[in-house]
Amino acid sequence: MNALKNNEHRSICARCGGQCCRTRPGIESPERFQAQPDPATALAELLIRREWILETHYGVPYTPGVTAPDPDRIIQYPRPATMSEQSKNSAGITAADDCVYLTPVGCSLAFDSRPRMCRELIPDSCFECETPWGRREAALAWLHHQDIIQAASATLAVQKGSQP
Ligand code: SF4
Ligand code: SF4
Repeated sequence: MNALKNNEHRSICARCGGQCCRTRPGIESPERFQAQPDPATALAELLIRREWILETHYGVPYTPGVTAPDPDRIIQYPRPATMSEQSKNSAGITAADDCVYLTPVGCSLAFDSRPRMCRELIPDSCFECETPWGRREAALAWLHHQDIIQAASATLAVQKGSQP
């Protein structure tokens, strides 16, 4: 996983009340899983525990000289589930809700264990928080690692199929 400087700002975030964690959790980059001996199994374990889900990104972001625009392509990337997604065991529920890792005193994960989008979000005293690593960057990062997603999805489907 990439090491990022801890940019937590607890006093700003306490005043805000954790709006970013109460809407839709941040997306993780492939590095967390690529660092594991079996990336697909590492992702599948999180999906099976319903702590994480796969979110769908529609289209390939255009990057001159690197990626052509492709509005029909679907890219999936992982992020922690919201409470409602976890209880319904269903990905893609669009309503905003608390992240499963959110507690009354903030995120229960150590900074280095949080998804990359969470780690890169820069708290702003006016609550206009921005991130240099958003959905566009996540889609590009996962574009060539959909094999991990597909293998983890297959493991999840087998596990669901074996449940009574
Ligand atoms: S990063 Fe921004 S949106 Fe998230 S809790 Fe802190 S101030 Fe609020
Ligand atoms: S993982 Fe932590 S920082 Fe990221 S959305 Fe969930 S509670 Fe917030």
